[in-house]
Amino acid sequence: MKIVLHKGSHEIGGTCIQLTTGKTSILLDAGLPLGAESQAPDVAQLTVDAALISHSHQDHYGLMTLLPPQTPIYIGKLGKSLIDATQIFLGKEIQEREYRHFQAWKSFRIGDFTITPYLMDHSAADAYAFLIEAEGKRLLYSGDLRAHGRKGKRFDNLIERPIPDIDLLFLEGTMLHRSNDQFPDETAVENTIFQTIREQKNIAFLLSSSQNIDRIVSAHRACKRTGKLLVIDIYTAWVLEQLRQITQNTPAMDWPEIRVFASHSQDERLKANPEYFGDFRKRLYRHRVKREELHATPGSFLYFGKMSSFRLIEEFKNAATPVSVLYSQWLGYLDGRHSDYFGSDEISRFRSDPAVNFVYAHTSGHAPVADLQRFAAALKPRKLVPMHTEHGEDFSQLFANVVTLNDGEVFDLA
Ligand SMILES: [Zn+2]
Ligand SMILES: [Zn+2]
Repeated sequence: MKIVLHKGSHEIGGTCIQLTTGKTSILLDAGLPLGAESQAPDVAQLTVDAALISHSHQDHYGLMTLLPPQTPIYIGKLGKSLIDATQIFLGKEIQEREYRHFQAWKSFRIGDFTITPYLMDHSAADAYAFLIEAEGKRLLYSGDLRAHGRKGKRFDNLIERPIPDIDLLFLEGTMLHRSNDQFPDETAVENTIFQTIREQKNIAFLLSSSQNIDRIVSAHRACKRTGKLLVIDIYTAWVLEQLRQITQNTPAMDWPEIRVFASHSQDERLKANPEYFGDFRKRLYRHRVKREELHATPGSFLYFGKMSSFRLIEEFKNAATPVSVLYSQWLGYLDGRHSDYFGSDEISRFRSDPAVNFVYAHTSGHAPVADLQRFAAALKPRKLVPMHTEHGEDFSQLFANVVTLNDGEVFDLA
């Protein structure tokens, strides 16, 4: 089996790996590089029999629509719905092409390859690792993973009953030089949200990704514990609708502690795509909270927002009773080098604003080093290849059997 790591050997994101046997070639992820200076591989020129997408983060699927139109794309059904949701709310078209859905732990074949998807814990729902077997070799692609989210049991299961006989493990290393100690898990995040909103006189905002379902659950639980109402926007409400494909246990807009704030721009998306949304818009309006209501009793609400919510936050700024801003995503976005991230400069300024109670509360979507080491020790791969990392060269100090590949290098797994 020939392996080409097109992208992702020395950076976080943009992952794209090609595996080729005597007669079949597949792609593992077709990610958009996150770094502005990173050149994306020209996937339109790749001749592959199929592409597998691990999860609904841009740095793993962002290039998939550029693949030749006849290339089928294998992806989890929920993951595809979450990508569609992002597209629609960005005002983009959903590309018509052949998508095939696999199921967790059910093997399927693409030519020479037998693939088994393993549902993993990550900050995106419906995230998979793939076991890939061909020509007598067994390869495990970790995707993005962690052990400390609300579905950490999936990681523990793989450690307790490891997949045997792995020839090569592609292991993500996002956290190689990052610590997760301040908030080691989602419960720690939930407790900080709880403590912050319990005392609040003014409204609190929680800034995170609407696709981080664990975080929405934490926000909802904190609201329940304090008798507050959780306010979500239309996009978040739609993301939560998608989760109903797999569970009725995640919060949704019709839960008693949840309200929907309908902004004009998001409502326009609903009106522009009536077939896609069905009766969602009608149902949504039963759970609506208006701007005046937020202003009338601000202390009763936690608003699940994002970086772009800074204008709404401004409306509630008050030196006597500061507005709480719970910053609940990677702190690196506020380092002054992400000005292209809309709202990041404004949110960053809130850190030193006396009218804002700025609180950091975030646990990573990725496993810290100690968990990666437990994972590798359990799986005992004959070769371990770093990916999705800025520090591949440091892997050999932490793991056994490390083989470092460069972008574009052809590696023969014989
Ligand atoms: Zn990623
Ligand atoms: Zn991810």
